[in-house]
Amino acid sequence: MLNDLQMLLELQTIDYDLGELERSKEYIPDMMENLRREINETVELFQKTEQELSESKVTQGKLELEVKTKQDELKKLQAQMMSIKTNKEYDALISQIDNAKETISDKETEILELIEKIEKLESSIDDYNKKAEEIKEQNEKQLAILQEKMDSVGSKIDSKEGERSRIMVKVPKRTMSVYERIRKNRGGDVVVPVRKRACGACYKALPPHRIQEIKRGDQIITCDNCGRMLLWHNGVSE
Ligand SMILES: [Zn+2]
Repeated sequence: MLNDLQMLLELQTIDYDLGELERSKEYIPDMMENLRREINETVELFQKTEQELSESKVTQGKLELEVKTKQDELKKLQAQMMSIKTNKEYDALISQIDNAKETISDKETEILELIEKIEKLESSIDDYNKKAEEIKEQNEKQLAILQEKMDSVGSKIDSKEGERSRIMVKVPKRTMSVYERIRKNRGGDVVVPVRKRACGACYKALPPHRIQEIKRGDQIITCDNCGRMLLWHNGVSE
């Protein structure tokens, strides 16, 4: 019986590994997706900043040209002051001059704000670029490792299934069906060590005669509470 239990212990290690491999088919693609998204986000941030910077510079150039045009216009208006004949003409010209000055002042304010924005963008763009390259390098390394894992999941599962069948044929059918039933209904370990004179899974205390039976190991003893198979020694200290 001890031998059966030992084989079941091996089996449950294999089942645990199989469970992990099955789960990895779900979580590896998720992890890869996150790594790819992170690469895209940092690259996009850099590209967005780069675009904003170049657009701001174009706008700055356009505004500077507009200021220049308005200044020429202002000079012409100011020159016209010399040839003014009536008060009406004077008032009209003054109003045009004021308008031009106001426009120039507004555009100059805009330019100053834009210069400030450009300086900020220029100081952060190098960091964004560096960050994007770092993330790309790091994440691509991890992606390659994960891809390799993903590619080998199938063959690892096959090899574990093979090990599983080799052990299964050595275990009595009845014991095997008890194992499968508990595994299916309870989940987790089926063969559990006794811990502190209680079931190692559900912690239900075991009466002394049960402990003796488990220690003898000549039959499979299951926990009254959770049905799991109890083992005295599992290489685990109590
Ligand atoms: Zn139990």
